[in-house]
Amino acid sequence: MSKNNHIEFPFKMMASFAVFALMMSGCGNENTENKDEQSSKTTETFQEDLEKKDPPKNEQEVERDAGGYIVGQELPKEATYISDLLIASKRYPLPADFAPGEDPEARAAFEELNAAAVLEGYTFNAFSTYRSYDRQVELYANYVNRDGKEAADTYSARPGYSEHQTGLAFDIGEVGNEQLFADEGFGTTAAGQWLEKNAHKYGFIMRYPEGKEDVTGYMHESWHFRYVGKDIAKDIYKNKSTLEEYLEIEK
Ligand SMILES: [Zn+2]
Repeated sequence: MSKNNHIEFPFKMMASFAVFALMMSGCGNENTENKDEQSSKTTETFQEDLEKKDPPKNEQEVERDAGGYIVGQELPKEATYISDLLIASKRYPLPADFAPGEDPEARAAFEELNAAAVLEGYTFNAFSTYRSYDRQVELYANYVNRDGKEAADTYSARPGYSEHQTGLAFDIGEVGNEQLFADEGFGTTAAGQWLEKNAHKYGFIMRYPEGKEDVTGYMHESWHFRYVGKDIAKDIYKNKSTLEEYLEIEK
């Protein structure tokens, strides 16, 4: 928020070579490990290097409410694409009129995944895929009525924030094990474990992995998969990563 990013500049200029070395190593420069305090580097060099530094990101400054949503944020006019990937999250909500329907490529990929799973003895059902904004309004309102807003926010996205509105999110469960649809127990079943280990081969990532709650902004969901295409899915799987980390974006 501050426009005075360089207000401390004269003070920083007085700082030691140690500080300079730290800053440079942060930039990946390998030739700055000169520990000689008597170095004759000029202050002009410091000035240039300091001025080249970008202002810090303001990501830490956003204010979040109890549900993890950014206070005062309104739904945008356009959906957000980063590196050609459509994003829907607490930071990047969707416009209310964004209504692409279920993505046919994602559906085809799911059918391919399921065909492979059947050969291993598992049959999957994508029990919830595309959800319209209006449907999410209805769902979220029902949950708030039933459990209160605070509780609803822990398990249901607010309208405009659901990845299901992209048409690329597939909630997957095992046929014959319907009682574990959208249930954490699914992740401990053989089918759930097979899915976790193999979904990337068909272009899906487990969108909200365990232990990444602070990165994605969502609780772990063993059933919620997002189609990103095979190359990206393999990359994210191999690195035990998330969409946020892959795109280097904030939750
Ligand atoms: Zn889901």
